[in-house]
Amino acid sequence: MTEFTSQPLYGGIEAGGTKFNCIIAGGPDHVVAEARFPTTTPQETLAQVIAFFARAPSPPKAIGIASFGPVDPDPASPTFGYITSTPKLVWQNTDFAGAVRRALNVPIAFDTDVNAAAFGEYTWGAARGLRTFVYYTIGTGIGGGGMVEGRLMHGLIHPEMGHMRLPHDWAHDPFAGVCPFHGDCFEGLASGPAIAQRWNADPKTLPLEHAAWQLEARYIALAMVNTICVLSPQRIILGGGVMEQAFLFPMIRREVQRLLNGYIVHEAILEHIDDYIVPPALGGRAGVFGAIALARHLDASTNAQETR
Ligand code: ZN
Repeated sequence: MTEFTSQPLYGGIEAGGTKFNCIIAGGPDHVVAEARFPTTTPQETLAQVIAFFARAPSPPKAIGIASFGPVDPDPASPTFGYITSTPKLVWQNTDFAGAVRRALNVPIAFDTDVNAAAFGEYTWGAARGLRTFVYYTIGTGIGGGGMVEGRLMHGLIHPEMGHMRLPHDWAHDPFAGVCPFHGDCFEGLASGPAIAQRWNADPKTLPLEHAAWQLEARYIALAMVNTICVLSPQRIILGGGVMEQAFLFPMIRREVQRLLNGYIVHEAILEHIDDYIVPPALGGRAGVFGAIALARHLDASTNAQETR
């Protein structure tokens, strides 16, 4: 029972399409070092990441990786910890977790960026005490993860909630969508690049009353209704760059209630939807602290096995 006498330090890597955030921390209130590196090639970026942790005055006990994907998060698989079929071609079939483990010789926890962010919110944020919830990031891409009955969702590979198909009214919205695989899936219609291309403008410059936001709230609400009907989450957390437009939250909540039309009878949706569809309590740091939470959890379960 000595675990909390001095707070152990963990490494976190949040791997995104444009940058890698690296951190050494015990938790959100105990950050020792941080660095960012641009996402270029696996050779160059991973060398910078590894050098950051190798230089650390106190080496982390374990490292958590929160990666863009698709990835292989199955510890029993020969390609565990790989980035697999990503559209970022130079990163296809990259042994991400293996490269970090071999260089630093520490245990590695590995999951999708959104499952990690969900786990960060479960550990320190808006999902504390919940067993079934969903975390979405809506930004450059759209992804979703979360827990069902207290376990992070993996299943066959991992969820790809950003690629669910939504009703698309072509007469009202003739934009074909930006997803290279599906065109007008959720990400194709509602990611930041979709907004930018549809309206030929930087989304951040579009005023509150612009039709873009009504349509955006509509698509997000359709996806949330599908999510609610499939998973019955106790809460939905919406993060990512697009959701920094905080005025979207009330628009999405109203549209979710309207679309559900009273069918799901629970006070969380009928009366307290402001506490049901919420921003991440860790803000833009959910992913990187989620990576720390994954590493901490791996370390705790390893210790538990060793003392059995
Ligand atoms: Zn798609």
